[in-house]
Amino acid sequence: MNTIYPNGEGVATADVRTRAFDEKYRYDGPLGALYTKEATTFILWAPTADAVVLEVYESYEEHSALKQSVAMERGEQGTWKVSVEGDCHLMAYTYLLDFGQVGTTRSQDPYAIATVVNGDRSVVVNPESVALSDWPRMAPFGNPTDAIIYELNTRDFSITENSGIEHKGKFLGLVEEGTKTPTGQITGLDYLKSLGFTHLQLLPIYDYATIDETEEKPTKYNWGYDPKNYNVPEGSYSTDPYNPVTRILELKQTIKKLQDNGIRVIMDVVYNHVYELHLQAFHKTVPGYYFRYHEDGSRSNGTGVGNDTASERYMMRRYMIDSLTYWIREYRLNGIRFDLMGIHDVETMNLIRAAVDEIDPSVILLGEGWNLNTVLAHEQKAAQHNAYLMPRIAHFNDSIRNKVKGGNFDKTEGGFVNGSPYAAYDVARNLLVGIPNSTYKDPGQVVQYVEAHDDLTLYDKLCHTHPHDSDDTRYKRHLLATTLVLLAQGIPFIHAGQEFLRTKELVENSYNAPDSINKFDWSRAEQYADAIEYVRGVIKFRKATALFRQMNYDQILDSLAVYKLEDGVIAYQLERDQEAYFVAINGNEHPVDLTYLPYGTYQKLIVDQKAPLEKGEVFELDGHYQVPSLSVTVMKKLSI
Ligand code: CA
Repeated sequence: MNTIYPNGEGVATADVRTRAFDEKYRYDGPLGALYTKEATTFILWAPTADAVVLEVYESYEEHSALKQSVAMERGEQGTWKVSVEGDCHLMAYTYLLDFGQVGTTRSQDPYAIATVVNGDRSVVVNPESVALSDWPRMAPFGNPTDAIIYELNTRDFSITENSGIEHKGKFLGLVEEGTKTPTGQITGLDYLKSLGFTHLQLLPIYDYATIDETEEKPTKYNWGYDPKNYNVPEGSYSTDPYNPVTRILELKQTIKKLQDNGIRVIMDVVYNHVYELHLQAFHKTVPGYYFRYHEDGSRSNGTGVGNDTASERYMMRRYMIDSLTYWIREYRLNGIRFDLMGIHDVETMNLIRAAVDEIDPSVILLGEGWNLNTVLAHEQKAAQHNAYLMPRIAHFNDSIRNKVKGGNFDKTEGGFVNGSPYAAYDVARNLLVGIPNSTYKDPGQVVQYVEAHDDLTLYDKLCHTHPHDSDDTRYKRHLLATTLVLLAQGIPFIHAGQEFLRTKELVENSYNAPDSINKFDWSRAEQYADAIEYVRGVIKFRKATALFRQMNYDQILDSLAVYKLEDGVIAYQLERDQEAYFVAINGNEHPVDLTYLPYGTYQKLIVDQKAPLEKGEVFELDGHYQVPSLSVTVMKKLSI
């Protein structure tokens, strides 16, 4: 049976979106399948249903027969409740809801922590069966600006034939050790560790809709921005998607092993929309409640994918907080990345920050604070323009992205590294003292990046702006852009493969492109070994040098002396407490002679896109320096 809404979801249900409804039905008690060995109690919030039946199935096979239907009783605040005696571990279930005139739905449990394959039925799990022993939270992290984030898709990382990884495309494929390509390139966990970043940000790992989990090697590809069961790991990343506990255990083992190797994990969450209203538990349990609508009953669509969730409503807000804190506690996560955060509201984000702080204040919260056209007041949007209202929540900085390499909308538009010397001033502001006209309170709110999973890779962008570049010139532009990110005040963010000039063959939006486009290309890693070595070196330098990771704009200004900010050149010195670094950045295709610089004995640490030199050349700076084309020089002052 499918969902039936003869009157359309907006018309029949507008009353649920009033303040009065929230005041009458808001509920703070437990929800979901509450397991004990003796009995499991099911509690569902569904105030507008006339009747709800718990349906229990013969087994957790995807289409196993209905075994039993149990009428649920009305509980407090619009809830429905029933207890089933005995040990219900691995019992599959759904809810059958009757909305009278509006129709009938069969729904998963929105609070389910396990599902059958492909996620149309929920499964009861004994928490003890999915607990890992000896897995404490990692010690708290330092400042957010100490983080270096590396964004990776689980499937891409291991899927190629030559990855040498056994569990291709699976969670476990992220943490295999001692793996190599046939030609000797290190892969797997050894490779991730070798880069030196602090936080691994995984593209969606919760259950999403568009991949058929019953295919051993899924024929379709999808990034996973199509949420289905929010509190359940994605089945296609499990070695056995049929067994409801396997994916939970494998994801936990994966995260634990990353953490045991010093790598913290950030989860990408997509609460801003669901894949398809009529297939998802929110809409099937309380039609019309969890989403935004225009006054005429049509759906708000600021996300651009057909629906916007309504974080300002009490139970949607509660759901986000419950779901996030469940993941952070249960899977020991170290950060959360909010897809289209600008859809959510300021108050919800601050309540999330407070709830997360109770678990671990060093958990990083970051998101896409775009100002989107959703049915929410400008001053309530959790977007960049309201950043100052949401302390300790970071935003992707599209300003540095666009100024360094050119905007995303015009493929041929360049930036500082590719033909626009006028960008020097804006790039410098982004690097050092905050974005022009920004509302950020501190650099910990700013995620500095030039490449992410969205849009053209940096390499492909450079192919559009400068199709006739020599390989060497393109290489230099690329490394220059990556170096700017890694030397920026704020939180540097690197897209997986950026360190070896990743290409997606000019595919701009590869969310459903085949593995041949999205794969993590280990052959290319081998080809660009020098670039990887250089990026490793700059990461190491950043981690060792606190002046590039400051947390206060006034202190940055206090430490800063600027020598040049124009004509494609940025030159400055950061100095505090007997420590000083001179930085010269040249975005031109020719060397530039700088004058009126400081004097002193310096040691070159980064130069000519060579890996930072532990024992670099000692150099007498006498007010002059020639910066090589398309490069960054960093020198440490020896004589103070
Ligand atoms: Ca799925």
